[in-house]
Amino acid sequence: MTRRPAVFLDRDGTIIEDTGYLADPGGVRLLPRAAPAIARLNDAGMPVIVVTNQSGIARGLLDEADYAATARRLEELLAAAGARLDGQYHCPHHPDFTGPCECRKPGALLYQRAATEHAIDLANSWWIGDRPNDVVAAERFRGRGLLIDRAAAERGSTSDTSRFPVVRDLEAAAGIILV
Ligand SMILES: [Mg+2]
Ligand SMILES: [Zn+2]
Repeated sequence: MTRRPAVFLDRDGTIIEDTGYLADPGGVRLLPRAAPAIARLNDAGMPVIVVTNQSGIARGLLDEADYAATARRLEELLAAAGARLDGQYHCPHHPDFTGPCECRKPGALLYQRAATEHAIDLANSWWIGDRPNDVVAAERFRGRGLLIDRAAAERGSTSDTSRFPVVRDLEAAAGIILV
């Protein structure tokens, strides 16, 4: 099977509003221009994979069923906008509550699992998120990262301290990926 480049997306603050430890599917709200950006990536044939740290589970603020409900709601909202995700992976841990793990970003485990399950070419893939820990795995796998920072992008900054190019939102990221 031919391996394809994928786009790994953070969820909270990247695709949907980051409300902090989201437990209620009714609180899932797409960010402006996020769904059309994902639809463009779908049309280009690139697997779009969510990888999200959900330490609220370790903290006891939500459980796996709550998280699954928010993940389903995200898929519904995207489907209504003509976009889809190829996979959603989450880390339910936090080192202070559940000890160290390999799946919490920037750990490699969820990316490796997705690569196996979706035949992904990691070295030609993209990492997109609103925090450096969403994108630093790009360096480990020799892929590319883009950091979403609207304020910095509007100031004209082109990179942050972690050396990744800065973009204002997911639509801008898609524009760079799909040149
Ligand atoms: Mg985020
Ligand atoms: Zn974990």
